[in-house]
Amino acid sequence: MEITGEHFIAGERSSIGDATFTGINPATSQPLPVEFHDATLAEIDSAITAADEDFETLQKLDGKTLAALLETIGNRIEEAGDALLERAHLETALPMARLKAERGRCINGCRIFAEIARTQSWRLPRIDAGGASSTRKVPDVRTMLVGIGPVVVFGASNFPLAISVAGTDTICALATGCPVIVKAHPAHPGTCEILASIISSSIADAGLPRGMFSMLQSNSIESSQAFVEHPSVSAVAFTGSTKGGRALFDIANSRTNPIPFYGEMGSSNPVFLLPGALAEQSESIAKGYIRSVNMGVGQFCTNPAVVLGMEGDDLESFIKVAGDQASEAEPKTMLHPGIYTAFESGRQEIESIDGISKVAQSDFETNPVANEAVCAIYASEFSVLDENPHAIEEVFGPTSTIYRCQSIEQMMKFARGLDGHLTATIHGTEQDLLDNQDLVTILQQKVGRIIFNGWPTGIEVCNAMHHGGPYPATTHSYFTSIGHQSIFRFAKPICFQDFPESALPEILRR
Ligand code: NAP
Repeated sequence: MEITGEHFIAGERSSIGDATFTGINPATSQPLPVEFHDATLAEIDSAITAADEDFETLQKLDGKTLAALLETIGNRIEEAGDALLERAHLETALPMARLKAERGRCINGCRIFAEIARTQSWRLPRIDAGGASSTRKVPDVRTMLVGIGPVVVFGASNFPLAISVAGTDTICALATGCPVIVKAHPAHPGTCEILASIISSSIADAGLPRGMFSMLQSNSIESSQAFVEHPSVSAVAFTGSTKGGRALFDIANSRTNPIPFYGEMGSSNPVFLLPGALAEQSESIAKGYIRSVNMGVGQFCTNPAVVLGMEGDDLESFIKVAGDQASEAEPKTMLHPGIYTAFESGRQEIESIDGISKVAQSDFETNPVANEAVCAIYASEFSVLDENPHAIEEVFGPTSTIYRCQSIEQMMKFARGLDGHLTATIHGTEQDLLDNQDLVTILQQKVGRIIFNGWPTGIEVCNAMHHGGPYPATTHSYFTSIGHQSIFRFAKPICFQDFPESALPEILRR
């Protein structure tokens, strides 16, 4: 497919703005061919207005029609073959094998939400049939979920397929009959265009309202803000940095009509090494740890960036093996120069904290032009962490710091002082876990997912998954952005009281 640099606005291509930008090949720091137009305010308005105008019609579509559309989108992403993966590889430097797996997740998402749309299980119908009691007429009350309205989606740089134009946010919003307006990520604009073209042509071929989907390229903060400010937008799904998410969240809340803003943001994902686990298998835990830190060049919101263990020989063995593994890890190209620069300055900040020392880093030459990050592991004492709580702020990349605690109480103190994170991980024996139930109780208020004897990276996409957490990990701890339940972000309840059966939506009839 030829990439043109245009937007997709309700089925039409558009490129009226003069400002342009290009994708960058992070492996060479060179611009990639094709100039992408920065969306103008008029184009953003056209896309959102078209979405708003078609919302009513979309809400009347049956589940089978929406399911068929989502299946078509999934099939066409599969049929796009290597061309899609090759462009994503050029723009992100993610290896083809990883991109292939991510495409599988993207296609699987289309199929999961097609099934949910078909069965309409997301509507959660509830019926309290009324009647007459001895004292009064009891009303007949029936409630179900409906789509919330036009949804704006901001994807992240690190999942160009699964959390981007055709990622979970877009697909589950479409499953509820909500129109979607995607603000493309400027770090993979060509990939965004290919995916938008697939969604747009699938909608056109199915004869569905064109306002159902738009995708606009943009790399300016002003235009990003305009998406959230538009009065016809009903909800925003954002995946990205805490800084960007918070800025847009504040805009969503300061609108005349504030709207839900589902921000999925950064996290440091603390790990607690309980004594029994280290005594039994410090070596294998250390190897698993470095694999997790290094996965995807550490560019995951679930990267285990802070580790606490009880001081002693077992923890020192763990640190030694972790250091050896980090030295052997080859530097890899990061997603784009901005992320590489932020990683390098984040590492310098860690190194500038008194009392934190470097255990090891990749023992290879790096090529800064190729934006190659080294895996770097640090160690320190609990007292240093206690005095420098900012030491655990997310540094997006392959780095992590291990802190030595003198008592379990210090771990509990650290846990109690945590802000919100996406995950926490506990390594221990079953007895360790039973002996430290207070830690589990504390963590339940601090994170969205607690992992036992595993690692937080590599999220299972399933019905029971909860990928979220208290602020600042997300802006709403009740919701997940991954898994079947993510659809509920784009639904709202509507209650019908004393409606005749014939006038009720079918799902609420007896
Ligand atoms: P990012 O820089 O925040 O970008 C995300 C999107 O937000 C982009 O479209 C960006 O557009 C826009 N944006 C950023 N700052 C903005 C601002 N101040 N005003 C308006 N728009 C703004 O994040 P990223 O570098 O792509 O992704 C890495 C981050 O995502 C990491 O922190 C990672 O932990 C997080 N992440 C979280 C999850 C999760 O599920 N919680 C998953 C993956 C990644 P412009 O570049 O055009 O400004």
